[in-house]
Amino acid sequence: MSAIPANIARISEQIAAACGRAGRRPEEVRLIAVSKVKPAELIEEAWHSGQQLFGESYVQEFRDKAPQVQAPVDWHFIGGLQTNKVKYLRGLVAMIHSVDRLQLAEEIDRQWEKLGRSVDILLQVNVGDEKSKSGCAPQELPDLAAAIARLPHLKICGLMCLPPYSDDPEEVRPFFRQLRELAGQIAELNIPGVEMRELSMGMSGDFEVAVEEGATLVRIGTAIFGERNRRT
Ligand SMILES: *Cc1c(COP(=O)(O)O)cnc(C)c1O
Repeated sequence: MSAIPANIARISEQIAAACGRAGRRPEEVRLIAVSKVKPAELIEEAWHSGQQLFGESYVQEFRDKAPQVQAPVDWHFIGGLQTNKVKYLRGLVAMIHSVDRLQLAEEIDRQWEKLGRSVDILLQVNVGDEKSKSGCAPQELPDLAAAIARLPHLKICGLMCLPPYSDDPEEVRPFFRQLRELAGQIAELNIPGVEMRELSMGMSGDFEVAVEEGATLVRIGTAIFGERNRRT
């Protein structure tokens, strides 16, 4: 037996403790097990220990792996997304976290229109203003949200960020806070069809701080499945 069930149990306790410190209820926070680069068997194992929600970052890998997973898991797509690959996610993911431009949103809308359904999305914000990172600039967020909100086959549910890396979670805290404040500002605009109920932020090294700052979706890979040897 691997360490996965114990890791998930420990992380759930840490999330609950962080909720306690922030006066939040643990049910407000959902754990996404980030399974990129990890095989289907480990996903099944996590599912058998009660984990429902999984996050993947690479379209090609997801295409190959998702059919191998027998358990009825829920998938979120959390990685960088090229417009021409959206079709491979169509109907398979419950949420796309990484929408940062209108053209990408239009393609998601087109693909889900073929199913006669809509898909939940988050707007990814480049809170650290890093050249190398995707995400829309904070000052462009209101216009982007308004434009994307007009598309009928997707639903904006909140914001996501991937802040600058630091060994010290306290250094990341201001970026989490910034994302929460941005969500508040967008909510105040009352754009029809736009909800700001989700904040996707926090990874293995900093999820407790993210929960203290209002995260509703934490994306955790390494602390559940161990180090990744391939790619990221
Ligand atoms: C890989 C990845 C994570 C998980 O990172 P860990 O440090 O392994 O927990 C979270 N979010 C995104 C967007 C990722 O690509």
